[in-house]
Amino acid sequence: MFLWDHIAFGPIHSRRLGQSLGINISPTDVKVCSFDCVYCECGWTLRKEIDPSRFASADLVMQAIEKKLRECSEAKVPVDSITFSGNGESTLHPQFAEIIERLLVLRDRYYPDSVITCLSNATQLQKETVRAALLKIDNPMLKLDAGLPDLYQTINRPTIPITMEETVAGMREFHGNFIMQSLFLRGEVNGVKFDNTTEENLVAWLQILAELTPRHVELYSLDRETPAKQLVKIDGAGLEAIAERVRALGIEARVFV
Ligand code: SF4
Repeated sequence: MFLWDHIAFGPIHSRRLGQSLGINISPTDVKVCSFDCVYCECGWTLRKEIDPSRFASADLVMQAIEKKLRECSEAKVPVDSITFSGNGESTLHPQFAEIIERLLVLRDRYYPDSVITCLSNATQLQKETVRAALLKIDNPMLKLDAGLPDLYQTINRPTIPITMEETVAGMREFHGNFIMQSLFLRGEVNGVKFDNTTEENLVAWLQILAELTPRHVELYSLDRETPAKQLVKIDGAGLEAIAERVRALGIEARVFV
């Protein structure tokens, strides 16, 4: 499994984001996440406790980001998106809001035409500071892989006490000003079979979308090695069929296979 060993990396070409300069504000030696998704490319969430002292300070993070932005700018390397991803859930960083504030200043100085994107599992949206910070960036990308509460627990396996309903309630506070990201798959983990392409789940998931009206929805399927081994990738035709149902709601849908 893969861990980023830097705070700032790339830029790498992303089908979704173009030239994407990655920002990893999770620790560089261990994944720290409030989910333990069956498909996570960083592997299982081995440490379930979230220890704030394991995160690099905001000052250290900003030094690393500014160094990278300066180097890229001097070398005239194009950057379309400055993207929070990396070894876990960025919004768990205790100084997440401060980092966003300071990054907005750096973005305007070095790459004013680029966007700031944050891939988030949406488990920290009950914190007003996190929501406010995400609403200041161009692309808050919030994950929702299930429409049924049990399936949410099976696929995403939260390591903190959180329900799908609480996650959706947090998304509601964005009043549609976010991008939904959803991964579709089927498989088995610990003897439990699951499938988020069933009619029952899709109907429930589409109902949530209709209520939340995100700016657009990104649907994707398995891409890299996964910690659970009995997973089945949904093909492009399968994702397109789901995307069509999203579009029928009047919401733009983009498919990445
Ligand atoms: S939310 Fe992202 S980082 Fe966390 S376990 Fe899931 S895929 Fe991995």
